Amino acid sequence: MLKLDFHPAGRHFLQIPGPSPVPDRILRAMSYPTIDHRGPEFGELGLKVLEGIKKIFKTQQPVVIYPASGTGAWEAALSNTLSPGDNVLMFETGHFATLWKKMAESLGLKPEFLGLPGIEGWRRGVQPKMIEERLRADTQHAIKAVCVVHNETSTGVTSDIAAVRRAIDAAGHPALLLVDTISGLACADYRHDEWGVDVTVSGSQKGLMLPPGISFNAISPKAFAASKQAKLPRSFWDWTDIVEMNKSGYWPYTPNTNLLYGLNEALEMILGEGLDNVFARHERLAEATRRAVRAWGLEIQCADPAVYSPVLTGVMMPEGIDADAVRKVIYERFDMSLGTGLGKMKGRMFRIGHLGDCNDLTLLATLAGCEMGLRLAGVPLKESGLPAAMEWLSQPKQAAGLKAAA
Ligand SMILES: *Cc1c(COP(=O)(O)O)cnc(C)c1O
Repeated sequence: MLKLDFHPAGRHFLQIPGPSPVPDRILRAMSYPTIDHRGPEFGELGLKVLEGIKKIFKTQQPVVIYPASGTGAWEAALSNTLSPGDNVLMFETGHFATLWKKMAESLGLKPEFLGLPGIEGWRRGVQPKMIEERLRADTQHAIKAVCVVHNETSTGVTSDIAAVRRAIDAAGHPALLLVDTISGLACADYRHDEWGVDVTVSGSQKGLMLPPGISFNAISPKAFAASKQAKLPRSFWDWTDIVEMNKSGYWPYTPNTNLLYGLNEALEMILGEGLDNVFARHERLAEATRRAVRAWGLEIQCADPAVYSPVLTGVMMPEGIDADAVRKVIYERFDMSLGTGLGKMKGRMFRIGHLGDCNDLTLLATLAGCEMGLRLAGVPLKESGLPAAMEWLSQPKQAAGLKAAA
């Protein structure tokens, strides 16, 4: 039941991996009056955010902004590039990859779902070798697109997109590469152009620190050319008119004006801090989290340190413990929301978000809330995780690229 009169003291801890907390600066920017979306001021704002967002995707190519959640941008990526009955190769990294595959089916595509047995794919991410082998076997080039999730938000695994590109090239295959980095963007390094991604899909409510409601397609020239031939029905999602009108900073329909004010502010914050600093901050908080989880004696969902996510950490529960019961205790006692286990991981793990507007003390309080809640829920812990996290966070200086640090 929604308790609208529930106003506990202090701030709610929204430590789910998206929507992430929206900084006050962004909330204030979003409170400016809504303006005429055909007027001159709007065009300036439109051009500014459309240029700025390219820096985040690391692209010189058009980035389309939809007034829609990430799911809409998923549909836009598929429907603009593919035709009914097309074969697409997808990889089972977790719940979001599974949902994207279901969408492909419902749009009339023929997705083939590569994966590791059981929940292994949900612990290790995309296996580029498997993609390469499958594409090599497709000598007729029936496969039109390879679709992968960069940061799998249901597990806390960040797959190597550059390696997927190399796999496609090694197989000499012309398939398009479509990537979902809805939760990875502005948290983990991402290079749309350099990695040869054809369509990158992202959303507002994760690393960009905005409320839900806008989403993105970054479009390569190859993808744009494919859209001229693609036969899947589309209207609202069609790139042609949007890309054309975006050239002057406008949209064919009413864009989400106030979220664009927010995006403008988010870009100032992220580019002001510097993308590399933003990534290093995420890596550092993620490492502190993993150190705490190991000290508790609990298992991290991601089983391969090379692909640990800087966005979130999945914490697996010992046999016989319901992860959602632990989350409930933490929510009720400490006013903190944690991510639930999704799909195959329902009840078996919870997810700690450490993305976006999060700092050392936010994270330490989060870990303290988890630890107290775990104890209250009767989960046996080896030792406190806080000293390990504090020790890590109070080191004088840490360099970026800490993924491999065990
Ligand atoms: C959040 C998320 C989605 C879904 O986006 P919505 O905004 O909820 O439609 C898809 N893929 C990934 C990886 C996500 O994190």
